Amino acid sequence: MSTPHYDCIIVGTGPAGASAAYYLAKGGYSILMLDKETLPRYKPCGGGVSPIVQQWFDFDFSPAISLKISVNRYTWKKQDPFEVSLNTQEPIWMVRRDVFDRFLVQQGQQQGAQLKDSTLVTGIEQQSEQILVKTSRGNYKGRYLIAADGGKGPLATWLGFKDRKRMLAGALEAEFPIVSESNGTTDSF
Ligand SMILES: Cc1cc2nc3c(=O)[nH]c(=O)nc-3n(C[C@H](O)[C@H](O)[C@H](O)COP(=O)(O)OP(=O)(O)OC[C@H]3O[C@@H](n4cnc5c(N)ncnc54)[C@H](O)[C@@H]3O)c2cc1C
Repeated sequence: MSTPHYDCIIVGTGPAGASAAYYLAKGGYSILMLDKETLPRYKPCGGGVSPIVQQWFDFDFSPAISLKISVNRYTWKKQDPFEVSLNTQEPIWMVRRDVFDRFLVQQGQQQGAQLKDSTLVTGIEQQSEQILVKTSRGNYKGRYLIAADGGKGPLATWLGFKDRKRMLAGALEAEFPIVSESNGTTDSF
């Protein structure tokens, strides 16, 4: 069986890969998005996104925004709250990465980009005019390759970039109830 061929193969379906997929597919190019995770995938993240992002896209991000905030509240052991008003023209978006990232991927799919998740990229090989991308679920060929596999992905090393300096840090994400001051309802974020 011949190897499926695309104009561009994008490794990684985070915001970088999904945005690239959207615009390239919209421009009429055949696009394959690959991700080792099964979408929607959880990702620890503060979830703060500047609303300025909207001006770079021609679709509405509202379905992917959990909350808009203009005040940050810091506490120590949930006591002694200290509130800081954010000095921005518009409230900051708060997003859940599983929802936000998948929303972006879906925009690309609607433009014709193909998605193969649960597909680990295991190697790449330059072959004259194209790149062979080897995965846990078969091989694909692309005229171009976009390495959007994030800070921990292997492509930068495979492409010959120098070793990155890595610093490990712990991150803990927890949900707790918030009470809306306007209507007294409880939600969690
Ligand atoms: C604790 C924490 C909090 C953060 N908080 C914020 C915040 O509040 N606001 C903000 O804007 N940014 C925040 N960030 C940064 C943000 O998460 C990154 O900038 C963003 O995710 C980068 O997007 P990306 O598309 O480049 O890569 P990623 O989102 O990392 O996506 C890379 C994708 O590539 C896939 N992949 C990797 N290797 C392979 C492989 N071999 N084969 C196939 N797929 C592969 C991964 O599964 C992943 O889905 C935070 C980061 C951390 C760690």
